[in-house]
Amino acid sequence: MNFRCINCGAINSGDPSSSPFCQSCGDLTEWVMEKAPTVSGLLPPPQEFTLWRYASLLPGIDEGGIVSLSEGGTPLQYSDGLAGAVGIDELFIKNEGRNPTGSFKDRGMSVAMTLARSAGYTSSICASTGNTAASMAAYSAKAGMKAFVIVPKGKVTRAKLKQSAIYGAMVLEVEGNFDAALDIVREMSGSGGPAIMNSINPYRIEGQKTGAFEVCDQLSSAPDWLLIPVGNGGNLTAYWKGFNEFRSIGAVTSLPRLVAVQAEGASPLASSFNEGSSTLIPVDKPETIATAIRIGRPANWKRAMKAIRDSNGLAVTVDDREIVKARELVAGKEGSLVELASASTVAAAIKLKKQGAIRKEETVVCVTTGNGLKDIDEAEAPDTVIIRSAGELQMILTGKKK
Ligand SMILES: [Zn+2]
Repeated sequence: MNFRCINCGAINSGDPSSSPFCQSCGDLTEWVMEKAPTVSGLLPPPQEFTLWRYASLLPGIDEGGIVSLSEGGTPLQYSDGLAGAVGIDELFIKNEGRNPTGSFKDRGMSVAMTLARSAGYTSSICASTGNTAASMAAYSAKAGMKAFVIVPKGKVTRAKLKQSAIYGAMVLEVEGNFDAALDIVREMSGSGGPAIMNSINPYRIEGQKTGAFEVCDQLSSAPDWLLIPVGNGGNLTAYWKGFNEFRSIGAVTSLPRLVAVQAEGASPLASSFNEGSSTLIPVDKPETIATAIRIGRPANWKRAMKAIRDSNGLAVTVDDREIVKARELVAGKEGSLVELASASTVAAAIKLKKQGAIRKEETVVCVTTGNGLKDIDEAEAPDTVIIRSAGELQMILTGKKK
């Protein structure tokens, strides 16, 4: 391949990765296209893949009024590096961090905001551990609506608070945890105030169920297992609804077994399910490093417990150490930085594989619900090495210095 000097025009043919400079004058070089293709040889631009592809499976929506930031259509990534490390051949990550505001919440928010605006609302409100707030703030901005987010004081990552504020939301804090924030939102219901945008709003579930449609379309079938982090239980509920609807229209013939994943210090649903309780045993002071699932009284617990049971599924807890390790594994093997809550699904896959519950040849999808850039507060400062010269760098590269 030829590389032309941007200064003297000399044609260089060396390997630009090791010698990027012109051999005659030392300036930079650029690649020269030897034979350009004709325009007709180019691939046509792909059609945009968003959740609105499934509009016919969503509540009646006036098409002119969709509030969309191109949500959905996220990649289902075959994770070969992770598959080897976990010992499952067919391991996939449904990377929901690739949504417009960096989390799966955008699916439900797009649908709920569309219907709220067409119903005449001019403002929106939610309680949040951070992702719902950021998503609602963005969609409210796009819809031309005011946004009010209520968060537990000191328990939301700064990145998520800042993100909400930049979209123009008013951020309100409550003493206590997420459950206290949601209690205030519940009290607002029926008041004629802002549209309530938590997953107690059924339109949110409708948007989120499209994640299940996509997984089926991307695999050309339902997976054997789907692992999902559980905070409020809304997303698990939504996926189960989606899988069932897809089967009912004949798009798939089977259903996956669902695994609800919770952090050990915030596991009301998993504990209740595994103890065989028919009601929820709440956790008064939920604690985990995975802030997105630090919830003690999941609003959707009834439907979530039913979904686990109906899918012949499991509820699993993982501790903070396992979650942090799993996040490093996903980043190190797949180059994908996911939220701590998201990494809990991979930690659970490792656990279930070890226990023999998941077999090597089964198809497993881990839903990673949020982008790790929003959840970096808790990460320790990385170990770094200071160097003063290329000679010193050589010593490190050749292992003569550590
Ligand atoms: Zn030159």
